[in-house]
Amino acid sequence: MEAIKGIGAGPGIAIGKAVLVGESQERIAFRTIEPHLIPAELERVERALEASRADIKRLRTRMASRAGEEAARIFDFHLGLLSDASLVQPILEDLKREGVVAEYAVAENFRKFADMLRANQVDTIAEKASDVVDLQRRVLGHLGENVSARITAARGPVVIIAHHLTPSQTAELHKARIGGFAMDVGGLTGHTSILARALGIPAVVGCGRATSDIEEGDTVILDGDGGVVIVRPDDGLLERYQFLARETEERARVLRSTATQESVTRDGMAIQLLGNIEFPDEIPLVLSNGGEGIGLYRTEFLYLTSEVPPTEEDQLDSYKRAIELCDGRPLVIRTLDLGADKYTQEHLDEAERNPFLGLRSIRFCLANPIIFKTQLRALLRASAFGPIKIMLPLVCHVMEIRETRMMINDLCEELDEESIPFDRNIALGMMVETPAAALMARAFANEARFFSIGTNDLIQYTLAVDRGNERVAPLYNAANPAVLTLIKNIIRTARHVGIEASVCGEIAGQPLFTPLLVGMGVRTLSMSPGQIPAVKRVVRGLEIDHCESLARRVGSFDSDRQVLSCLRDELRRIDPEALARSEGG
Ligand code: PEP
Ligand code: MG
Repeated sequence: MEAIKGIGAGPGIAIGKAVLVGESQERIAFRTIEPHLIPAELERVERALEASRADIKRLRTRMASRAGEEAARIFDFHLGLLSDASLVQPILEDLKREGVVAEYAVAENFRKFADMLRANQVDTIAEKASDVVDLQRRVLGHLGENVSARITAARGPVVIIAHHLTPSQTAELHKARIGGFAMDVGGLTGHTSILARALGIPAVVGCGRATSDIEEGDTVILDGDGGVVIVRPDDGLLERYQFLARETEERARVLRSTATQESVTRDGMAIQLLGNIEFPDEIPLVLSNGGEGIGLYRTEFLYLTSEVPPTEEDQLDSYKRAIELCDGRPLVIRTLDLGADKYTQEHLDEAERNPFLGLRSIRFCLANPIIFKTQLRALLRASAFGPIKIMLPLVCHVMEIRETRMMINDLCEELDEESIPFDRNIALGMMVETPAAALMARAFANEARFFSIGTNDLIQYTLAVDRGNERVAPLYNAANPAVLTLIKNIIRTARHVGIEASVCGEIAGQPLFTPLLVGMGVRTLSMSPGQIPAVKRVVRGLEIDHCESLARRVGSFDSDRQVLSCLRDELRRIDPEALARSEGG
């Protein structure tokens, strides 16, 4: 028996057999497969090599047209290598003779080949080692594409163990109805974790060594509340967790049964609770959990789950479906927030060095006007079918809103010419999720019709902590006074100017923060559908006066420890059970 500690990213308990998918490209564990699976594994390698050759040929053609035939010749070395018997043969032999998994055979033989080149006395040959490493990544990347196929094939009470799952692979987990998943890497507000919560899948991320310590077929208990994965448990522990799983399910059922209650404080202040969704199909879940509409529809998932970019009609269909399901309730649709961890860097010829500071979100959209206009046109057309608001992600400059508005104006003229109806008064708002936007909230309030505070990104950019990196996870803290000061500034400014400032980052769904946010003046919270009942229960125990004095007290602290302890005391007073759940108890 072994317990692997990680970060609880999706609540609930899953018990099942381990299925290992994907591998860390840096550290691929030695694993063998059953002899009857060898032919399929050989085919997998052949396909990955062929796909890599096709990539290189495409790159070569592009380079030839941009920089001439001479420059393009550098790719001939890569192409030759992918067909070179001294590299390819040992890979196939290892598979046939030793029955190792494809990833291991590829990684090992590419590494040996690179080492051999590196040892060469002639510099120009030694330098080629980095090309070999690059090619290795490409081939492993193509092998990794099978992750989705393995996930789809896994059914029943299984727990997926992966080095890293992309958001689109996580979406596959839902379809396959697996029990839960654990990853070596990742943090609480990485998009894979957010998706786990949205889909109601128990998950533990940032485990560090799950893929090396867990063997295929091991019995595994995954405790998404406590953030721990127990491998090969003894019978006593297994029974205890089976009991706990039933109890957790019962607790969730009782919470859900209060969904129809009003979301008002004890002294009568209405707090609007909305849902965050990735797919329109999640809307019924938001409503059945007691949500009053959708405060954040992350449209990029339409891109992430499909091989080809969605057309204007595809997008229009999705938006129309969301409008229909919302049936007149609020619906805030965010424009594409692609980039960083939501746009697999393998799509790029050269991965960005700092993707979270790179061409993502509104920047990506403005740099790709065809993609952006397609979405904006679909949104405008959808607005004729019911009330929607458009929200822009990661805004840092007022020019980003102005440019978008100009595009929208052009599209409105176009639609008028084509006699296509749309809502002329459609609201254009923005996420406030960068320190730049938070500090300049006053200027942005003149440009945007509403604000939604994206604390997930606001925390990472304010504290300089990557939200998806388990190594710095303890530093990623919403209770940091710098973050809270920015949130306070945004809310105060919005109130002053008379526009709404809601919160749609993960803290909106954490009962620990509900009294504070309400005390700061927030009246709309948007969260993962599963969190709505627990937050509503806390709301119903609040008194505005008390929340406001709590906010003042918290505002005087200079450390997150003081803030957290004060918030815990408050939640213990209002809803001790919610506190126990938030602490994984
Ligand atoms: C946020 O950053 O807080 C947010 C809600 O957006 P996302 O998690 O999609 O980046
Ligand atoms: Mg964000």
